[in-house]
Amino acid sequence: MISGRQIHKSYGTVPVLKGVDIDINKGEVVSIVGPSGSGKSTLLHILGTLDKPDSGTVVMNETPISSLTGKQLAAFRNKNIGFVFQFHHLLPEFSAIENVCIPGWLAGRKKKEVLEKAKELLAVLGVDHRLENKPGELSGGEQQRVAVARALINQPQIVFADEPTGNLDTANARELHDLFFSLRKRFQQTFLIVTHNEELATLSDRTLHMKDGLIA
Ligand code: ATP
Ligand code: MG
Repeated sequence: MISGRQIHKSYGTVPVLKGVDIDINKGEVVSIVGPSGSGKSTLLHILGTLDKPDSGTVVMNETPISSLTGKQLAAFRNKNIGFVFQFHHLLPEFSAIENVCIPGWLAGRKKKEVLEKAKELLAVLGVDHRLENKPGELSGGEQQRVAVARALINQPQIVFADEPTGNLDTANARELHDLFFSLRKRFQQTFLIVTHNEELATLSDRTLHMKDGLIA
């Protein structure tokens, strides 16, 4: 479903990715582990089209996404890619359900259809009792689940998650893991997850080890 070939990236004169090859199949939950500074986030950003490689290619379902630009790129990303970050970046002035709906509305989908999908996702995620609350009125785990729902609203091909359990306690982290696996089962959702959480890494279908800008 997504393949990276010989991805190189440097910041200034410092090489961060040194020719990464990676393949993720549909419906897989793959985790990436590795020391701080080894290039995990950089790789995720490049695969997710938030950043460009200096050289190398990223292909998703036959679309060479590393060479898309401008509106084409934004449209592709909006439709096909979801992101969950450690700090969820929910919009504080909007309610939980609005936060989930906004990417759907931005994608030009029907307002009501997006709302229905958002409700369904928030129910699957167990936060449908908090629809009208603002992020500041939710617990960390609830906020994270709203962020996951937001990442899924446009039914992306793949969800990239960068340390999604980084600010959660053990119980909430475990719940989020269970959630990823139930979403995979329910929607054949594909996940690529950067994590320091060994439990999640163990549960994944595959764990990739990143070191010094390469996947070992
Ligand atoms: P961590 O586990 O700490 O999140 P990581 O494996 O995600 O680490 P990256 O964030 O990919 O590591 O960073 C890899 C290297 O690139 C680091 O040395 C970092 O300082 C550097 N780096 C990352 N982003 C930038 C940037 N925008 N400008 C300059 N250097 C950067
Ligand atoms: Mg990182």
